[in-house]
Amino acid sequence: LSDRLTATFRNLRTKGKLSPADVDGTVREIRRALLDADVALEVVKDFTGRVRERALSDEVSKALNPAQQVVQIVNEELIGILGGQQRRLEFAKKPPTVIMLAGLQGAGKTTLAGKLAKWLKKEGHTPMLIAADLQRPNAVTQLQVVGEQAGVPVWAPEPGNGVGNPVKVAKDGVKEAERSQHDTVIVDTAGRLGIDAELMKQASDIRKAVDPDEVLFVIDAMIGQDAVQTARAFQEGVEFTGVVLSKLDGDARGGAALSVASVTGRPIMFASTGEGLDDFEPFYPDRMASRILDLGDILTLIEQAQSAFDEDEARRTAEKFATDSFTLDDFLQQMQQLKNMGSIKGMLGMLPGARGMREQLENFDEREITRTEAIIRSMTKAERTNTKLLNGSRRLRIAKGSGMTVTDVNALVTRFEQAAKMMKTVAKGGVPQVPGMGPI
Ligand code: GDP
Ligand code: MG
Repeated sequence: LSDRLTATFRNLRTKGKLSPADVDGTVREIRRALLDADVALEVVKDFTGRVRERALSDEVSKALNPAQQVVQIVNEELIGILGGQQRRLEFAKKPPTVIMLAGLQGAGKTTLAGKLAKWLKKEGHTPMLIAADLQRPNAVTQLQVVGEQAGVPVWAPEPGNGVGNPVKVAKDGVKEAERSQHDTVIVDTAGRLGIDAELMKQASDIRKAVDPDEVLFVIDAMIGQDAVQTARAFQEGVEFTGVVLSKLDGDARGGAALSVASVTGRPIMFASTGEGLDDFEPFYPDRMASRILDLGDILTLIEQAQSAFDEDEARRTAEKFATDSFTLDDFLQQMQQLKNMGSIKGMLGMLPGARGMREQLENFDEREITRTEAIIRSMTKAERTNTKLLNGSRRLRIAKGSGMTVTDVNALVTRFEQAAKMMKTVAKGGVPQVPGMGPI
């Protein structure tokens, strides 16, 4: 998915103004890429429709860089479908908070129960697990093992008492949690390989009996096109309040995530990323959007650049680039804005798939901005405006004045000239650049 989209967007970035044909071509590629990633057709249609509409609107035609704007729109729409903001668990005013898990067999519910318990414990809660899956012979034992690993107690049916009646077990468990003052309980339930009425009724009965604060629908991210049908069935059957995506460590490319979030309108709250109890994290829609686009690196940087560079300033600079009146003074100013973008090294952490970019950043030294500043400050106004004046003796004087070598001065001038040239391309609608850093 991502390779194709990246190619599409690269193609877009080399264009200045977008024609309706450009937009259609891009939207077609996005549609194909999403279908390849197993996003349900109805979701794809809906999504591309919205992207197309926005891409053809004023917001894009008036933008400084329309192509970049389209990338932004795709990202925003993806984040929107995935739930916008990250949603946190709702805790009951009067404990215990009851969290019920539902989903197909093998989705990862029991494993999740352990993960969630461990995580809640780390957050300062006192969780308890309830084994209300009495369908599979080993289900109770499995939850007990997981509970032990997480260091939390497990409420399980005693032989002869409640065996075969998951509703009673769940109810008794919650009562016990109340009595022993556990502030959260996680109710593990049974699943079937396919959706069936009996399973759904059982889940629904448990829901009625324990009145949960959260019902989390656990779904295997690799489920593909079946995601929509399964999610709808569970939404009707148990009315879940949030979604947990499991097995995101596999080959899943986010198709199921998009489909489920889109058709149910329920937020994805957690992601499971392995068999171990620590392979678990709150779900961040923006990161998933990035995973889907594999553009997170670029988008994050564009956003940061956008907030650091005041928009009018950017427009003025763009005009300067285009008309060749970009000077070393402007260059210096841009470098200082680059500093506003925060620690460049810190940004590395935000670059999941940056590859070439990451290497460039790895080599980027923030002290270089300081050195560059020293050199430019040692130049006269005339020299800053016209680098052609910089002959050998002037360069030597500047080197001495700034405490650098002539080689340093030469390197800076060369880099400035290259940057000015590249920026000129950008101003005409080419690949976005951050001065001094080469292409993003
Ligand atoms: P349940 O039937 O819904 O309770 O599912 P289980 O919790 O028993 O999990 C089914 C299988 O999937 C087990 O072998 C788990 O170890 C595995 N599993 C669960 N979550 C994940 C995950 O996030 N990643 C991977 N790779 N395996 C998982
Ligand atoms: Mg289970």
